[in-house]
Amino acid sequence: MAKKNENRVRVTLKCTECESRNYRVEKNNHNTQSPLVLNRYCPKCQKHTEHKESKDKK
Ligand SMILES: [Zn+2]
Repeated sequence: MAKKNENRVRVTLKCTECESRNYRVEKNNHNTQSPLVLNRYCPKCQKHTEHKESKDKK
């Protein structure tokens, strides 16, 4: 009877400007079905940019 969070998926957040993968987050697939887009700081662009979810293959 393991408590597993089956709805949790790991996603990588990718900068939409330079495409570098800067953040890794867990999202709840049950609540969130649309792709994540978050405004995060990109070290490469040295500013806040939109980061879009791209799924990890694991
Ligand atoms: Zn960037």
